[in-house]
Amino acid sequence: MTPVALGIPSVRTKPIADRRVSRQIMVGSVPVGGDAPVSVQSMTTTVTADINSTLQQIAELTAAGCQIVRVAVPSQDDAEALPVIAKKSQIPVIADIHFQPKYVFAAIEAGCAAVRVNPGNIKKFDDKVGEIAKAAAANGVPIRIGVNAGSLDPRLLAKYGKATPEALVESALWECSLFEEHGFRDIKISVKHNDPVVMVQAYRLLAAQCDYPLHLGVTEAGPAFQGTIKSAVAFGALLSEGIGDTIRVSLSAPPVEEIKVGIGILESFNLRERGLEIVSCPSCGRAQVDVYTLAEQVQAGLTGLKIPLRVAVMGCVVNGPGEAREADLGVASGNGKGQIFVKGEVIKTVPESQIVETLIEEALRLAEAMGVEIDLDDLDESPGPEVTVH
Ligand code: SF4
Repeated sequence: MTPVALGIPSVRTKPIADRRVSRQIMVGSVPVGGDAPVSVQSMTTTVTADINSTLQQIAELTAAGCQIVRVAVPSQDDAEALPVIAKKSQIPVIADIHFQPKYVFAAIEAGCAAVRVNPGNIKKFDDKVGEIAKAAAANGVPIRIGVNAGSLDPRLLAKYGKATPEALVESALWECSLFEEHGFRDIKISVKHNDPVVMVQAYRLLAAQCDYPLHLGVTEAGPAFQGTIKSAVAFGALLSEGIGDTIRVSLSAPPVEEIKVGIGILESFNLRERGLEIVSCPSCGRAQVDVYTLAEQVQAGLTGLKIPLRVAVMGCVVNGPGEAREADLGVASGNGKGQIFVKGEVIKTVPESQIVETLIEEALRLAEAMGVEIDLDDLDESPGPEVTVH
């Protein structure tokens, strides 16, 4: 959506760093690397051979903003499902393949947008790399070299003693070199570890040694709360240095949650246009209104409003007017009333009981002024807006 000026100075900041220069590959219709925006991806949790369930989950992921989806291919039945899934998916499908070279060829023939292979079990692929490179090149299918600490090449495990950053990077670059010997460079790389410190060090090392686009991931990051924190800090450290071309948040949670977190991380760094953002104060002893409830009600009321809008919900007059003035729309509460700000100006003061409905009304008015048609039925169905606590 094209942002429309609201008549006030922009409150957005620039991205935190210039992107690392990387070569660009195409994962189906989605460019990865170069000057392409950092994309968000996830992986289905269904049995791939269950085509209907897999396509249903891909549709849910697509609706949540997922741009690339990966499906596991551990069996012949899964491989046989790939042509239909690749054809019917609205977003590029990557086949995730371990151990069995024959499934790599099946995925390429099936029309998958890319194939992920794991150097940890690549020895089975070693004598097939030439054929894989030829088939992939002939079909314009890139390969992700996906190194994972949990399945590191035993030779490197023996050499380094454990999955160190150096071991992860050596594994990835060694595998790349096998493909390069056949003139194949349509590659992206991941070097995942469950420890964000090791993971960040590995990606930094890797970024300095090649120009391949990088797929960021903290593997086995854990349940939603822990995984979100690990992914946010690790991706944040790397993205703040311009490292990272596509991201996958791994959570022990429904994959749609991974997309919400991934998008939130990119929006936080202005690597993606922010949607609706609620700036709410954490509340304190000065609060003259129930800020938590107010913020939740405003969030619930505006969920589904897909416009770049910052709404400030503040508990008192200390920082309230300042934050509310800086936002597109805001309220500074006090004495049972709320001062409503639009475009930096106080437009009215309403009783506390009318704050939520007034903010929602004004948000819809702003959306209309931006030429955005709002279907009120949509307002409760999509993920909630980002909430920033000042
Ligand atoms: S705006 Fe700041 S000072 Fe006022 S209630 Fe919220 S946290 Fe406290």
